[in-house]
Amino acid sequence: MASPRATQALLQRSIEAIEASSDTFEELPEALRDLLMALQELLESPGAPSGPAANDARQVLEMVALAGESELRNQQSVTASLEALSLELERRILAAPVALAAGQACPPCGIDGGTEAGRSLGLLAALLSHNPSRLAPELDPTSPLGHRYPFADEKLAMEPGDTIRALEELSDLGLFQRTLVNRIHVCSECERCHLNFREQCPRCDSIDLKVERVLHHFRCGYTGIESEFGSGIELACPKCRRELFQLGQDFDRPHETYVCRHCESLFEEPQIGAQCLACSKESAGHEAPQRAIYTYSPTPLANRAVELGRLTGLEVDSILYDAELKIATRDFLEFEIKRELVRLSRHATAFSTATVSFERHGRTVPIFRDWTASTLRELCVMLAGSLRSLDLVTRLDASRLGILMPEADEAGAAIVRRRLFAELNEMSFVDRSGNDLVPTWTVATWAERRQPIEEVRRFLFPDSNMLKVEP
Ligand SMILES: [Zn+2]
Ligand SMILES: [Zn+2]
Ligand SMILES: [Zn+2]
Repeated sequence: MASPRATQALLQRSIEAIEASSDTFEELPEALRDLLMALQELLESPGAPSGPAANDARQVLEMVALAGESELRNQQSVTASLEALSLELERRILAAPVALAAGQACPPCGIDGGTEAGRSLGLLAALLSHNPSRLAPELDPTSPLGHRYPFADEKLAMEPGDTIRALEELSDLGLFQRTLVNRIHVCSECERCHLNFREQCPRCDSIDLKVERVLHHFRCGYTGIESEFGSGIELACPKCRRELFQLGQDFDRPHETYVCRHCESLFEEPQIGAQCLACSKESAGHEAPQRAIYTYSPTPLANRAVELGRLTGLEVDSILYDAELKIATRDFLEFEIKRELVRLSRHATAFSTATVSFERHGRTVPIFRDWTASTLRELCVMLAGSLRSLDLVTRLDASRLGILMPEADEAGAAIVRRRLFAELNEMSFVDRSGNDLVPTWTVATWAERRQPIEEVRRFLFPDSNMLKVEP
């Protein structure tokens, strides 16, 4: 089986050959065969890539198997789509992990594998094309925290202790979800887990302790440790000097006690001290900080990070709010609604507001969490293209888009809806499991002269119980 790098080179050569021969068509069959071979190898390789591009590639291969190569080579359109497909495959699946693993910059996306951020993206890309994609810890007595993640150590080119710090940072960015696996105590000084917990005298901190039985002499009431009553066969009370004969009749042994050999204190509960075997720092055991050890699973945001080639600025707002698109912030939408209400109070006019969401079996899907950045942008580009120039779109919450249509009465809003749904029905929208989603529209037209803004807000944010009160 060829390595990913060899497969990538083969893909690259095939694409170049196809590009060079697309006029003459004479050398095409061979280049095409190479390309198909490369695709086949890629899809059969261990940890084969998944996702839409890989599914497309599988479909093309099935098509080839059905049609036969001789028929295929005459179809220019198939060749062109293969070419586009392989470029996409190369960009999305192959190039990033290969270049990043080699510590180079990835040409299509510009991710630099030589930096920590680039290696982190390489790790995410590798995990997302893996099954299972979780990072589970292994026990390792030599690691600072007693656990390690060999796959991440390798991808990040880090020592185990640094790897955990990096994974924690990626989790804080929302790229990993943590699942608790273990809790460990660490040294408060050097943060390593190599602690020796030991029993110490609460008075002088000595570790030279022994456990002795306590004797209670019934007759005089004296209570003391057993060694005070003599070490031979005969037991004598150190207070009243009488001999002790019968357990239960003359004396009993109520409990045991710790005795410090150093300061001779008696105590029932020793103090637990923690000694660091790495830096020799000593502290009380209950003061040793705890660290949680987790399994890390990439979140949907990690898909977006790999797709966009960056670790931050992945939030929907920073992707969507863009000068080209008519996507507004919520504050701006609210500002515009207030303006419409003022206009409404002066002129006999109307405006409409609408929401668009996507459902499966009547359940609304959180598209702003689940969809990739490119799908979201595709939707927004479509919206921007089909709405009127004054209409405004904003993200209301995790699943709904809000649309403001100034000067649109019910008939006007119906026209906008028709045009929009003609476009929406041309596109296909799926959830994370690939199930088809149905676009859903709700609309309200506002035509009363004294319309309070609360009613408009209640329409746009029905679940919100934190409606702002206007003075
Ligand atoms: Zn006695
Ligand atoms: Zn002591
Ligand atoms: Zn230490």
